[in-house]
Amino acid sequence: MIEERMYNVAALVISLVYLEPPSPLHPTRYAVSKCFSRLAPRAWRGPDIVLASGLTINVTQTSFPDLWVALKGGSNNFGVVTAFESTAFPQGKFWGGFIGNPGSTKDAQFKAFEEFTGNPNYDPYAALINSYIFTPATNSWSIANNLEYTKNQSYPPYFQNFTSLPQIFNTMRISNLTDFTLELSASNPDGRRQLFVTGTYSNSAKMMSEIFNIANSTVQALIPVPGISYSLSFQPEPTIITSKAASRGGNSLGLTAADGNLFNLLLTVSWDSSAYDALIDTQAKALFDQAETYAKANGFYNEYLYLNYAAPWQKPIAGYGAANVANLMAVSRKYDPLQVFQKQVPGGFKLDQ
Ligand SMILES: Cc1cc2nc3c(=O)[nH]c(=O)nc-3n(C[C@H](O)[C@H](O)[C@H](O)COP(=O)(O)OP(=O)(O)OC[C@H]3O[C@@H](n4cnc5c(N)ncnc54)[C@H](O)[C@@H]3O)c2cc1C
Repeated sequence: MIEERMYNVAALVISLVYLEPPSPLHPTRYAVSKCFSRLAPRAWRGPDIVLASGLTINVTQTSFPDLWVALKGGSNNFGVVTAFESTAFPQGKFWGGFIGNPGSTKDAQFKAFEEFTGNPNYDPYAALINSYIFTPATNSWSIANNLEYTKNQSYPPYFQNFTSLPQIFNTMRISNLTDFTLELSASNPDGRRQLFVTGTYSNSAKMMSEIFNIANSTVQALIPVPGISYSLSFQPEPTIITSKAASRGGNSLGLTAADGNLFNLLLTVSWDSSAYDALIDTQAKALFDQAETYAKANGFYNEYLYLNYAAPWQKPIAGYGAANVANLMAVSRKYDPLQVFQKQVPGGFKLDQ
């Protein structure tokens, strides 16, 4: 209580002396304000970030509201994050693993996925990665579903449409997060060449089926590539996720519940020799170009691209929408007037890409 009163008095003094809010562009004013802010009651700390000027600031929704929103989606365009806190909750053991199914179940899988993602009573404990794996030797596909239910409960009814399909393997069990993470990472061994490409579409079995057919056609040219692994993964992006952003202070991604239920598509290709890089890029681009044409013609297109899954030649920040990009650029000019993070930092997706 005493600390709180001291903080209020300090804040009043600061506001009388400095009529503008503290600014990283005016370090003296910022230093005084920061000193008093340490007396504030303990609250959730936003990230510490080193700006292009060399100044380190702590970014919260109230200290730097424009930068706060920009950082949520802005990747490495604003500074170097040196510390952050995340809200957490206790998570005990839960149900998870993989179930393999024959490729012949694909149409039932598309239907099950559409119902799962579009369920108006979406179960927030349920997570799904629905993957289609190509086998070049037999020119055929198999299916692997990575299922998690973050409760200590086996075979919850929400997964019934998947768990009732014919199976070729099954690792479902009650275990802990580390165990499930190790199982997932085993499917991506280190040391190979790898391409991720992503797209976002309205939740639709028809769209999934079209993507599968285009992939089945464009992958044919890749059959001779030595050691190739090729898979399509579909992940639900239901409105139960996108509707939460505003109440958490908003972000720069440009996704809201008004986009409807969506799904994320991830193409993963792994291979051994750089001699095949160009061919793999060409065939991957063909898949996503044709999928985009179909999606636009049939009302399934969404411009959002999940940055963590984007290929170097994709433009995930442009996918946040023109208004968000303009806002990100304005914030960049304010906190990085010399545009160090746009022009001198290699790697990552730049704001004008
Ligand atoms: C096999 C595999 C599986 C994956 N599975 C998933 C998944 O399930 N879900 C998912 O979301 N992603 C997944 N990813 C993608 C992965 O999460 C992203 O590539 C992630 O950004 C990697 O972070 P990093 O810090 O290791 O990589 P980096 O390449 O080091 O960093 C990524 C970007 O962040 C910037 N950056 C790094 N550190 C800082 C910092 N301190 N301050 C500011 N900017 C910084 C970098 O400049 C770069 O632009 C997977 C990747 C692989 C290879």
